[in-house]
Amino acid sequence: MGAVTRNLSRMASEPADGGQGGSAAIDGLIDPEDPSATYVLEPDVVAPLVARIVTSHTAGDHRSLLPFTGAPLAAIPLSSVEDVADAVERARRAQRSWAHTTVAERAAVLLRFHDLVLERQSEVLDLLQMETGKSRRSAFEEVADIAQVTRHYGVRAGAYLADRRVGGMLPVLTRATVHRRPVGVVGAIAPWNYPLTLGLAEALPALVAGNAVVLKPDPQTSLTALWAAELLEEAGLPGDLFLVVAGGGDIGAALTGHVDHIAFTGSTATGRKVAAQAGERLIGTTLELGGKNPLYVAADAHVPSAAQGAVRACFSNSGQLCVSIERLILHEDIAEEFLDAFVPLVRGLTLGTALDYSVDMGSLTSQAQLDRVVAHVDDALAEGARVLAGGVHRADIGPFFYAPTVLDHVPPTADCAHEETFGPVVSVTRVPDDATAIRVMNDSEYGLSASIWTQDTARGRRLAAQVEAGAVNINDGYASAFGSVSAPMGGFKSSGQGRRHGREGIEALTEPQTIVVQRGVSRGLSFDTLYAQPGDRPSRLLTAAFSVMKKLRLP
Ligand code: NAD
Repeated sequence: MGAVTRNLSRMASEPADGGQGGSAAIDGLIDPEDPSATYVLEPDVVAPLVARIVTSHTAGDHRSLLPFTGAPLAAIPLSSVEDVADAVERARRAQRSWAHTTVAERAAVLLRFHDLVLERQSEVLDLLQMETGKSRRSAFEEVADIAQVTRHYGVRAGAYLADRRVGGMLPVLTRATVHRRPVGVVGAIAPWNYPLTLGLAEALPALVAGNAVVLKPDPQTSLTALWAAELLEEAGLPGDLFLVVAGGGDIGAALTGHVDHIAFTGSTATGRKVAAQAGERLIGTTLELGGKNPLYVAADAHVPSAAQGAVRACFSNSGQLCVSIERLILHEDIAEEFLDAFVPLVRGLTLGTALDYSVDMGSLTSQAQLDRVVAHVDDALAEGARVLAGGVHRADIGPFFYAPTVLDHVPPTADCAHEETFGPVVSVTRVPDDATAIRVMNDSEYGLSASIWTQDTARGRRLAAQVEAGAVNINDGYASAFGSVSAPMGGFKSSGQGRRHGREGIEALTEPQTIVVQRGVSRGLSFDTLYAQPGDRPSRLLTAAFSVMKKLRLP
């Protein structure tokens, strides 16, 4: 993998001209359809990674693109439906012995993986930028997330998975324990926007819980997933416990058709299909779906901090972030002061292709994302919205770049008022009071994440409790809740089902098994002895016992 770093470093040292502030930028638009176009990543760099894909090489290749220029990045051999079945079978065999290792042994793998990711972050930062077009700052968010999640489950998995004593049916006589067993093979389906974070979000707790994992990344971001597979092996994960299949929706559906739990991250539309298929098979699901996340600036907010926080919340990863803010809701008392601070900050963001930290915002990842952003902005303008910043395709930098955009006076009928844009576009709404703010925040089919800015945090918590969202950040845009990995993360309404992170995130990947021991059998204290009593005696004895238990407030 050092080879990838060397290769990318060489590219990064080529002269820059397109970006606004990137010292090490990638230059030149290349027609991806041109058969003579050569791949940006050399075959000897890509070969060891793609060799990890479970494929019989019968399904052809996917040509991934370098979003910064549109050049062909790498050829990714695709898996067939049969390959998926093979991968799950291999994973199932490996899982049988993995389940017999101790949690401490499995946690040690995660903690070694934690160190390797931090040590070798430059490799994956390059890969993440090359596959997604994101800025290095946004790429580092993924490394930071993996550090958080691996440390959390590496340290806490033992406690989460330990047998738990609970009250039995009858005190003293009934001893009940809840034991957690791995479900078997967990399938993970990930989108392209945060391929390291989202490729591993359920995989890491799944592995430490004793499962095997088969991951299907988006074909555009397969190399990042394969890099993670390589590092997990280096961290000591035995073979076949983390396998990668490559392909699109058909391969995702095939995976759902074989595994014991499906952890899906992606759009709500696809999530519904996955849920329906999983429902047929009666397997568990974790569904992390879309959002249309609001940020409310209350009248007493510290406006300069709110403006700064909103910039990061709206434009990190060019807005291609499930918890990204797409709706700014401003108390009318501070609305103009906020916009006077916010809009210049947005206009001042630097865009570019640099493989270093000199750029604020990178590219969109694909033509499809660009098309969606352009369509949403055009539609809003046609409906009477006004541009406060951006609103332009920045083809001068790269084919998929779009300026960070702030829209005012967006009518509720405009697509971007209610549909997820998943791009660098935010709309502004003014409200007269907190009650209206809450109503506007909740006026969405989604409920993933929200943000409230106020200097009165007690009031912030009271408002948060009225917001229909799985996570509410007070005086932060999005990262505090997502980064608090001890706490569950997921969506209300059409934003998902189930939770990742914390106890909930690992318990979802296990089967709780109740084991109950009835004591005193040899002394004639069994239920059979009780029910052998004549007439209504068993009922009377039990009725008396229940009354005493309630008096003692036994649970
Ligand atoms: P998508 O739903 O189009 O694709 C996601 C993944 O599902 C891809 O790997 C795709 O190949 C696969 N897929 C497609 N059809 C499938 C099927 N029928 N069965 C199984 N798998 C199938 O989403 P996308 O455009 O790649 O990602 C963007 C969306 O993801 C946005 O809506 C965003 O909000 C959401 N997202 C949610 C979270 C979260 O944690 N809630 C995080 C990131 C992204």
